[in-house]
Amino acid sequence: MSPDGVLEYNSRVSETSQSPGPALVAGRSCDGCTLCCKVLNIGSLRKPRNVWCQHCDIGNGCMIYEQRPGECRDFYCTYRVSPELGEEWKPSVSKMVVNFESGIRRVNVSVDPDFPGAWQRDPYYGQLKAMALHLLRGQGHLLVWEGGEPIAILPNRDVRLGPGRDNIIVVRGRSTPTGEDYDAVSLAPDDPRLSEFTQS
Ligand code: SF4
Ligand code: SF4
Repeated sequence: MSPDGVLEYNSRVSETSQSPGPALVAGRSCDGCTLCCKVLNIGSLRKPRNVWCQHCDIGNGCMIYEQRPGECRDFYCTYRVSPELGEEWKPSVSKMVVNFESGIRRVNVSVDPDFPGAWQRDPYYGQLKAMALHLLRGQGHLLVWEGGEPIAILPNRDVRLGPGRDNIIVVRGRSTPTGEDYDAVSLAPDDPRLSEFTQS
């Protein structure tokens, strides 16, 4: 392990970083975190979700900072880039890493497997419900990933979508006499029911 590497890791997301990237929220840092190095999969390293990267000095930083893959260089969790998330969303505190896939307008909330149910605690659950409603009204959706499986957070229910790594998650909403009603399913790519849903 290189102590310098650890320092550089922390500085990669500092306000003085020279690399082009998303605008970062002033006053926030990765100090004391590294949870993204556990809960996210890193394809180029063949690192699955929910196991620590072999190169992570847990809570401190990356031991291969200069050689870290592009996926790591480019990644900032939503806590770092969105002032709309409060301080309670620092992943080392919340035990959840939030990221936004802009192409499919999906917010992913990846829960530390050592803290199951973290997303159901206050003040997080109410905020997730509000975020989900906001996203759905803009053709997006919100998934909580717990135990490696997705849960669709909907205003009226939470839907455990189960395994199916290559499945397509579709969400649909409709107006009813008592308000908006939403549902979500996870379908195999060749499932004929896909055409019945608004694909997301
Ligand atoms: S999860 Fe977010 S705050 Fe934590 S180390 Fe990764 S980018 Fe930084
Ligand atoms: S290579 Fe470094 S930055 Fe990337 S997941 Fe591993 S420890 Fe984290």
